[in-house]
Amino acid sequence: MNCPICGNQYFDTIFQYTEPPVIETRYPALKDVAYYRETLQCKKCLHFIAFQEMDLSAIYSGDYVSATYKDKAGVQGTFNKIINLPPERSDNTGRVARINDFAMRYWGGYTNKTILDIGSGLGVFPYLMKKNGWKVTALDPDQRAAEHIKDTVQVETICGDFFEVESTRKYDLVTFNKVLEHVKDPIAMLSKSKDNLADNGLVYVEVPDGDIAVLDGKEREEFTIDHLYIFSFISLAITAEKAGFYPVLIERLKEPSTKYTLRAFLKKK
Ligand SMILES: [Zn+2]
Repeated sequence: MNCPICGNQYFDTIFQYTEPPVIETRYPALKDVAYYRETLQCKKCLHFIAFQEMDLSAIYSGDYVSATYKDKAGVQGTFNKIINLPPERSDNTGRVARINDFAMRYWGGYTNKTILDIGSGLGVFPYLMKKNGWKVTALDPDQRAAEHIKDTVQVETICGDFFEVESTRKYDLVTFNKVLEHVKDPIAMLSKSKDNLADNGLVYVEVPDGDIAVLDGKEREEFTIDHLYIFSFISLAITAEKAGFYPVLIERLKEPSTKYTLRAFLKKK
């Protein structure tokens, strides 16, 4: 096995799991399966890799939304709950404020700037960005999520896998909020976003911060089974570089939800 980010072949075994962490969603597809997985870490770029042999295909074909939000009413209910969080408890409020602040400094403003948000999920981020004057297009592979965003958030919505979307429409900002840790080839996915980036456009990326989460141990939500990878500061920088970007800024934060996060603003090379 090679590290998907730096290509190195040497790993340390950091954690072993014989049962799900307490915080992990119980997926119906894994109910009758002997649970075993490991978290490995690349010795060179410190990227974390989930290693396991259970069949996870169901998790990625609708089971993820079903197990997390139950059904369309569940999606709506969770959306309402999150948009009504007080600002100091909302990860999204902090995220939007950071992006607006950066956009002001980078472009001198953001009213009517366009965004392509990849992996919009519940649509809380598109909802807040629209409220702040951005022109939002939301993309999500799950049909329930896409319908919910179209009906409730009322922004342009694309239902599909980003790898299969053929649009070359250009956007000022392409966002990947907690997406790259779920895909097999994060470098390829990030690289594809260049097709949709306007001149002087930016890509905004958030991923779980493994460097800090690992210090708190194996029960951290950053290491749950739906994350194929957990990034290090260095592996995120290498991902950006190999995908054809310069990191304008990479920073780490602990979010109101207690998640440890790395976020980056990237510029096309
Ligand atoms: Zn590596």
